[in-house]
Amino acid sequence: MANILILGGGFGGLMMAEQLSDLFGNSGHRITLVSPKDKFTFYPALVRLAFGDCSEENISIDLPEKLNDLNVRFVQGEVIKLNQNLKQVQIAGEDFNGEISYDYLVIAMGRRLATEKIGGFFEHAHHLLGSKAALKFGEAVESFKKGHIVVGLSPQAFLPVPVCETAFALAKKFEREIEKEKISVSVIFPETIETAFGGADLHEKLEKAFAFHHIEVITDFAVKEVTEKAIVSAEGQKIKYDLLMLLPPFRGQAMIGKQGFTDELDFVEVDDFLRVVNLENAYAVGDIASFTGPKLAFTAIRQAQVAAENIATELRGGTPTKLYQHDISLIIDEGGDDAIFLNYGVLDNTLYGLKTGKMWSRMKNEHNQLWHVVRNG
Ligand SMILES: Cc1cc2nc3c(=O)[nH]c(=O)nc-3n(C[C@H](O)[C@H](O)[C@H](O)COP(=O)(O)OP(=O)(O)OC[C@H]3O[C@@H](n4cnc5c(N)ncnc54)[C@H](O)[C@@H]3O)c2cc1C
Repeated sequence: MANILILGGGFGGLMMAEQLSDLFGNSGHRITLVSPKDKFTFYPALVRLAFGDCSEENISIDLPEKLNDLNVRFVQGEVIKLNQNLKQVQIAGEDFNGEISYDYLVIAMGRRLATEKIGGFFEHAHHLLGSKAALKFGEAVESFKKGHIVVGLSPQAFLPVPVCETAFALAKKFEREIEKEKISVSVIFPETIETAFGGADLHEKLEKAFAFHHIEVITDFAVKEVTEKAIVSAEGQKIKYDLLMLLPPFRGQAMIGKQGFTDELDFVEVDDFLRVVNLENAYAVGDIASFTGPKLAFTAIRQAQVAAENIATELRGGTPTKLYQHDISLIIDEGGDDAIFLNYGVLDNTLYGLKTGKMWSRMKNEHNQLWHVVRNG
């Protein structure tokens, strides 16, 4: 009988719990998931939340209840230390404080927002990478009457989808004001749009859609600092704003950094089977895993499927055989554009070019299916 410990209750952790529960059933292996929060939030819907198209309740599920159905033990707490030699993790939580031992470890702790890398971010910028932040940004949008709105991606903020969605949602909301030139919207990328999407073949359609909605696109602007009135690039160029939504740089979790298995940004290095490099009996999935390109729920799910299958093989005494192939442009182009949920729901009738025919309905279905899988298993 083995103890399998999953760290994190987001897309990667929850999908891992589902996969392992499916694979092991009542085999006697013990699966435990640790997360600081007792809720799972469906992040792809945060732009909708900000724009009042859904409520917090609509986009979150109760983790203990869900895990109980899967026969997975839930421990509410935060991982504060990993002891590689003892195969133990130290947890700090209200209900549980202490060590949990493991035979197999799955690291799925997502990304950290490195807001400290952009001077003035905390004081002046909005983001929408959590429910509270999304609602706060939504309030600022609601009371905005006149001026320039800047929506941007910082360097190493590996998530272009909500930036594009936010720009289009603003264009829809302020359509008349934009026509009358009372309000303008700019979207900013640190390099090209193509680079932001990991080389996927979306940029031409996106560029057309931005132009159609009178959204100004500024590329190769690496934000370094935010002042009360402007964003400043590494080269000292300035762009003035009246309302700013900026995604900060991403990092892995510092508490597992510098232990010999993370890269320079604290993301966990894995091999082709998603085994953590230099850490025995451990796998990593989701945003925390060190891969190039945008970080997506879609990839977290694919990785959880691969890692679960490989753990099952190991528990049967075999050697992992299931390979993970991370070709982000292939995932987005093939998956196809469904792999990112650009434009579901928020922008009915607006996002010209991306909204046609089969692709549009596939995209919506994909979102619905993903939510269905998460909620109902
Ligand atoms: C606004 C927004 C829109 C998005 N849109 C899309 C989209 O359209 N399509 C798409 O595919 N992806 C989208 N994404 C990306 C997607 O949500 C992420 O890629 C996905 O959530 C990654 O899953 P994860 O499990 O790796 O990390 P998360 O979902 O971030 O989960 C990490 C988990 O680890 C826990 N954790 C953190 N620290 C600790 C600790 N010390 N101890 C224990 N647990 C810890 C967290 O509480 C959380 O439960 C979007 C994200 C955002 C924010």
